[in-house]
This record gives sequence, C-alpha cells and structure tokens, in this order.
Amino acid sequence: MPMPQHNVYYAQSPELEDNNRRAILRIILWIIVVLGLILCGLNLHHGSVTVAWLEFGVVLFCSVFLYNLKRTSKLKLWIATLLMLVFVVVLYGMQIRALSAGSYYWVLVMPPLSLLLLGLHWGSWLSLLFGIGGMMQMLYTQSTQLPQFNLSLSNNALFSYLTIWAVSHVYEYKRSYVVQQLQKLASVDPLTGLYNRRQLTAVFEHCFTAHRQSGYPFGMLLLDVDHFKNINDVYGHDVGDQMLTHLACLMKANRRHDDWVFRVGGEEFCLLVAQSDKSQLRQMAERLRLDVEQHPGIYDGQQCPVTVSIGIATWPEDGSTFASLYQQADRRLYQAKNSGRNTVVA
Ligand code: GH3
Ligand code: MG
Ligand code: MG
Repeated sequence: MPMPQHNVYYAQSPELEDNNRRAILRIILWIIVVLGLILCGLNLHHGSVTVAWLEFGVVLFCSVFLYNLKRTSKLKLWIATLLMLVFVVVLYGMQIRALSAGSYYWVLVMPPLSLLLLGLHWGSWLSLLFGIGGMMQMLYTQSTQLPQFNLSLSNNALFSYLTIWAVSHVYEYKRSYVVQQLQKLASVDPLTGLYNRRQLTAVFEHCFTAHRQSGYPFGMLLLDVDHFKNINDVYGHDVGDQMLTHLACLMKANRRHDDWVFRVGGEEFCLLVAQSDKSQLRQMAERLRLDVEQHPGIYDGQQCPVTVSIGIATWPEDGSTFASLYQQADRRLYQAKNSGRNTVVA
C-alpha cells in the first residue's frame, strides 16, 4: 500500500507549482486568443488563408484549454500541445514569408515560454527541440528562398537562440532551487531536522487517503517530554536544545520506513504510524518510551536522564479527521501525565 515517501516532504509543492502555472496560463491563453483572432482577421484580409486557418486552430485550441484549465489533471500535456501548435504556426510563417519578414524572432519566444510553463525538465527538452526545428527551417528557407546563403544570418539566429535558451534555463534552474529551499525551510524544524507542524496536516491527508483506499488502520502518537522545564532550569537551555535533538534521533531510530516524525511544539512530537492497529501502536510507543528512559542524554560527561509520556489515537476507531485524532491523542497524553508520567495511554 503506497505511503508518501520521505523525499516528497514538500507535499504541497507540485500542487502549488501547478496552481501558479494555471494562473499564468489563464493570462497567456487570453492573450493568444485575442491576438490570434486579430492576426487571423488580418491574414484573411491579406489573402493568407492557410495561415489564417492555422491561427484560428490555435485560437480554438486555446479556448478549449481555457475551458478545461481548472479541471484538467494533464496540465503538462495540454501545455506541450499548445506550445507545439504555436511552434508549427511560427515555422509556417517562416516558410511563407521567408526570413526578411523576421518570423524567426518568434522562435526566440519559445525557450522562456516552454521553461516558464513546463518547468526545467520538459521545458528544456522541448525548447531544445524547438531550437533544432527553428534552425532547420531557417536553413531550408534560406537555401530555397534567398539568392545566396547568408552565413551571418544563420550565426545570429543560432547564437541568439542559444543565449536565450541558456539564460532561460539558468533562470528556471535558480527559481526552482529557491522555491525548493523555501519550501524546505517552511516544512522542517531547524533544531531537530524533523518536519514541523505545518507539514503534519499535509502528510496526514496523504496518509488518510492511502489508508482509506486500502482499509488498513493507522495511528498517531503524541509525545511530550516530562518535566522538560526542569531540564532547562538545571542544565541550561543549550542542554535542553541538545536533549531535543537527542530525542529526535531516538524517534527517527524507532520509526519504520513509512512512518513520519514531526516536532509539533516546544517539547512535543508527533509520529504518524502507517498500517498499524491499536496493539501494534501501543507496542511501538512502549518501545520508544523505554528507549528514551534507557538512553539519557550525555552532556559534558554528565548523564541527563529524561522520560516521555505518550498518547495514542487510531484511525478509524478514534475519529476520521485530523482534528478528531489529534484531540483524542492529546486527551490520552494528558491522562498519561496525570497518571504519573513516563507512561503510554492508548
Ligand atoms: P510536563 O511534564 O507537564 O510536560 O512538564 P514540562 O516542564 O515539560 O512542561 P511545560 O510545558 O511546563 O514546559 C515546557 C518547556 O519547554 C518550557 C519551555 O521553556 C521549554 N521549551 C520549549 N521549546 C524549547 C526549545 O526549543 N528549547 C529548549 N531548550 N526549551 C524549550
Ligand atoms: Mg508540553
Ligand atoms: Mg513537557
């Protein structure tokens, strides 16, 4: 049963990128529709019927795309088709007007447009394809329509395309890198390296969907360090910080491949445990509690004992929403505290 992998911890990222793309596309599509209709009318007026029909085809495609823009799950396929259609019109324009009319300039629009709309991977490949196609068309039109081969024209076309392609590529590479870094910063707790509370709700939705499809139970452990204030008071805040990192390591060592660990507050942690019923969750929580008890932090050669209390909630028994499960786990954590701490309550 598929669970979210740990390297997709910016769970929102693909949807976020797609939403941005849809917003940009809406503007671009409207521009193409309006511009396309104007060009179509002008070309009809000048007797260029084939170009007019091609432009009308693009306008029609853009209108259907606009209609489907919000709903489609195959956004990249629609974009790639749109770019290829636009490119065919550009190539045809180069063919019929030769090079003096400057149709080649429109080829230069393809790399930034492809990278902006398709992202680094598909954008780069497609714009490479457009570059090769544009150059071949330019050489062909030169050889068939100009009295003699113009080397400087070809060189200018090649180098201007390469420059724009390289600049667009570097820009998109840097942009996606910065977005990734920002998303990482927004999802990870800097002290322990664990995912933060913001990420918890996003991952919970993934877990919930996967488990609802398979019917397997899963659960949530809410863990709070006992008398952590004392640790800060006795050993100092720095040791308190190191203790939190030490506990994060113990939790990571105790989780399985498809479990997730979060720091949800100052000295509070949450584990989402895949495919486990209440008794398995209890066993895991007991193992973790004992592991913490048996592994005190050691700072400046000095042992610093620590214990934790754990509350457990299971889907579907204890609720079917994030809020209801979290509330139940929190209630049991409170019971664990009241019954003397260093305890698991399921
Ligand atoms: P209990 O057993 O009832 O949970 O007692 P407690 O002392 O752990 O609970 P309390 O919520 O009163 O104290 C939590 C303390 O955690 C208070 C705060 O100073 C400390 N704390 C919160 N975040 C950090 C942090 O990032 N680093 C350090 N060193 N301390 C923190
Ligand atoms: Mg607390
Ligand atoms: Mg505490």
